Amino acid sequence: MTKIRRRLSERVAGFVRDWSLPRQMAGQSVMSEAARSTTSANLRPRLEEADRIGTSVCPFCAVGCGQLIYAKNGRPIHVEGDPRSPINQGTLCPKGAGTLGMLLSPERISDVLYRAPYSDRWEKRPLAWAMERIAQLTKQVRDETFAGTLPDGRIINHTLGLGSLGGATMDNEENYLIKKLFGGGLGMINIENQARI
Ligand code: SF4
Repeated sequence: MTKIRRRLSERVAGFVRDWSLPRQMAGQSVMSEAARSTTSANLRPRLEEADRIGTSVCPFCAVGCGQLIYAKNGRPIHVEGDPRSPINQGTLCPKGAGTLGMLLSPERISDVLYRAPYSDRWEKRPLAWAMERIAQLTKQVRDETFAGTLPDGRIINHTLGLGSLGGATMDNEENYLIKKLFGGGLGMINIENQARI
């Protein structure tokens, strides 16, 4: 009981000591330190620890809001809207504001699930393995299906064996590169994008 009383009186004393009103009544100006509680005095800017700031584009939709990525020791610690972006002018919607959670989530999938032809089970494979396999198969299909001319001799230089379906998060620059690589480079003519704006 004594212990509880002591802790209670310590808390009351701390509250009174930290309360700005008695200090102001004692003559300290409201514009001085008297107006600050210990909690306020201990508050730190949330980005104070960042040692690097990078720029990025929100990956969630085709609006393409600009972002500032704050990092400490190479690890992101905060994401906010870039005020220099003419698109979002420093703002982010709730999805974009949640980008840090997506970056750091332990639930984030970093492996690829692969199901071999005729198999009834998925296997975990590294992303690099999947990228290499996609590149090899793309080349193979392109070589097998590329048509230089029609039977009447007209030049077409295209393949109907490959197609591309883009996502809403792709921005202008990415779509430009896709068009150049897939269309001009591979001869793909079935290229679609799910742009929402
Ligand atoms: S999801 Fe939100 S923050 Fe991200 S680009 Fe779209 S509108 Fe901007």
